[in-house]
Formats: sequence, C-alpha cells, structure tokens
Amino acid sequence: MTPKITRFLAEQQPATPCLVVDLDVVETHFHALHHSMPEAKIYYAIKANPAPAILNRLVALGSCFDAASIAEIRMCLDAGATPDRISYGNTLKKPEWICEAYDLGIRLFVFDSIEELEKLGQHAPGARVFCRLAVENEGADWPLSRKFGTTLKHARALMLHARDLGLKPYGLSFHVGSQQTGVAAYDHAITKAAALYHDLRAQGVDLGMLNLGGGFPTHYRENVPSVQDFADTIHASLTTNFPDDAPEILLEPGRYMVGQSGVVSSEVILVSRRGGAASDPRWVYLDIGRFGGLAETEGEAIRYTFRTSRDAEEGTRSPCVVAGPSCDGVDIMYEKNRITMPDSLTCGDRIEILATGAYVSTYCSVGFNGFPPLTEYYI
Ligand SMILES: *Cc1c(COP(=O)(O)O)cnc(C)c1O
Repeated sequence: MTPKITRFLAEQQPATPCLVVDLDVVETHFHALHHSMPEAKIYYAIKANPAPAILNRLVALGSCFDAASIAEIRMCLDAGATPDRISYGNTLKKPEWICEAYDLGIRLFVFDSIEELEKLGQHAPGARVFCRLAVENEGADWPLSRKFGTTLKHARALMLHARDLGLKPYGLSFHVGSQQTGVAAYDHAITKAAALYHDLRAQGVDLGMLNLGGGFPTHYRENVPSVQDFADTIHASLTTNFPDDAPEILLEPGRYMVGQSGVVSSEVILVSRRGGAASDPRWVYLDIGRFGGLAETEGEAIRYTFRTSRDAEEGTRSPCVVAGPSCDGVDIMYEKNRITMPDSLTCGDRIEILATGAYVSTYCSVGFNGFPPLTEYYI
C-alpha cells in the first residue's frame, strides 16, 4: 500500500472489485534489481502483468522483455521496445507464431526439445537459441518444474545439433519456480548449468549467455529474502562456477517486478456462520475470488495480506474462512490459513488485498457467473 494508492482509493472511491497499481513501485523494483545485479540484463516476464502503462514505463527504463506469445511481442513493440530487446521465451510455439515473430524481427528463442528446435531451424534461420534446463523447484510456492525443461544430457545433444540446423547456440536457461523463497535454488541451478556450459565449450560450442529466469519473490504474508540476498548468492555462485569469464546474464523477473505495486480493493458481500452456532466457522465472502483474478490462492499457495476498513477499531478479532462471490465450490481462497479479521466486519465493508500487482489482472476469468473482468487503474 502506498500513499498514492491510499489517496486514489479515498478520493476516487472506485467501484469494487478493482486493481490499483502504483507505477512508481514498479520503477523502484526495476532499479533495485538493476542496482543489485548491474551486469545482468533484465527481461521483464510480461505475463505477470502486461498493462501498457507498465510496459511503457519499463521501456523508458531500458528494460528488455520476455514474451510468451505473438500478442505479448506486439504489446512490447507497441510500447516502443525494439525487437532486439525481446526474447520469445515460451517453449511452446506454433510454426506460424515462430514465422510471425521472425518477421517482426525477433531473433532470440527458447526451446527444450528436438521437435521445437527443428521448428526453429526451419522458421527462424540464423536466430540465437537457448535451451531450457529442468531444475529443482524446491522452495518455490508456485512451481513450474514439471512442464518445462530438459535434462543436461539431452540439452548437450541439442546444443551440439543446433548449428547443423542453421541456428546460433547461444545459451542455457532455467526457472527455479515462481515465488522462490530460498536463495540456494539459484546456486544449485547455476552450478548445474555451468557444468554443461563448460562441457559444450570443450566440444567447440562457445555459448555466451546464461538466463537465470524469474522466481524472485514478492513479500506477501511471510517474510522473504531481499533481492540483495539473491544477488549475493548469485554473484558468489557465478564467481565459483565461472572463475575466468562469466557469460552474459539474463534475468526474467515477473512477480518481483510488479507484485508489490498493486492493491485490490474489494467489498464484503456476506459475513456468516452458516450452521447458526457460535462455534461454526465465520465465513467472509468478498466480491472477488478465485475466478476474479486471485487464481494463485489455489492450494493456498500464494497467501495475500488483507486489510479491512475496520482494522483501526478496537474490539475482538477472530480467524475467518475467506471465499469469493461465484457459485463454484472451489472458489474458497483461504480455509486452512484463515485470515484474522475484526468481529465487527459486515456486509458492505471494504477490504484491501495487498501485493496483487502480479498474476491477478490477467488470471481473471471472462464472464464466469456473469461477473465482469477486473477493473484496473494504473497511476
Ligand atoms: C513466468 C515466467 C517468468 C517469470 O517468473 P516469476 O516467478 O514471475 O518471476 C520468467 N521466465 C519464464 C520463462 C516464465 O515462464
């Protein structure tokens, strides 16, 4: 919550639910990451929040972009990024998407299989390619490990093969899992990638780049290491693993860059104890839920912080189950990790949900139960 957002909500009284993003917070996070790892190139993972206002601000700051689709590539170009600042970082691309990206000037592509590499050889001749490795996602609240990445052994064969297909084998990448709360995950992944990097050099394939992916956490309910803590571990690992000459380092922060910048303003629809007994759990139903953008509450993986309009009042507080407004049984956000809220809380009260700048606006379903998409304000 920033003074700018507080003022906006107080003065504008926007209808709920809505997301308010303070662009200065995005800028602060870009600078903090850049300051802690000045040698790294920052490729903002657009999917975390593709709002034009965010892309414009990051273009002005000199950021590069990790795009997952043609639409995202076009959004970056529209915001003023040149094609050389855009990486097509999705391992899943239809041939026509590769052609279109290539026509738009994109020359940096990821792959993690022979099938995808061959597509690139056919449709993106001469492009620089990097191979995504599967790494441990331990310590990540939102893992990505099962769907992407290949083994060291297979990556080695693919990188040796890339040149035969007319491509430039350029680097290796990994993702340690989103909302990664342990700094050691990066050390383990760098150590793993470095072994292959040196091995390939001995085979005559001189890569130039190591892409450390995203994963840097946002502060939700629990404390997380600072970006400087991550930078210190990464620097130490690079020094150990690349004693002579470190490769160019790419970072793909998504959540870290925008998570803290946003606040959802919502309203209480109902507070009830459905069994009627005082011993029954107290349920708080909001006008935003799992389908309104808070999809990462699945499995209570991401644990947001709630502020109610009655927090300043004296009086008792107790834990509540928090659920959304839809007629779907999975639309329960927190039941195991209950949220302590004032007992005076009632229908019509405002609730702010903090650190909702990442993976909220775009996770909102379209028209489910007739609820409109989340309104967004970028200030
Ligand atoms: C989603 C994604 C990111 C961003 O991850 P965060 O955990 O949000 O930082 C980076 N790189 C790739 C390839 C991704 O798919």
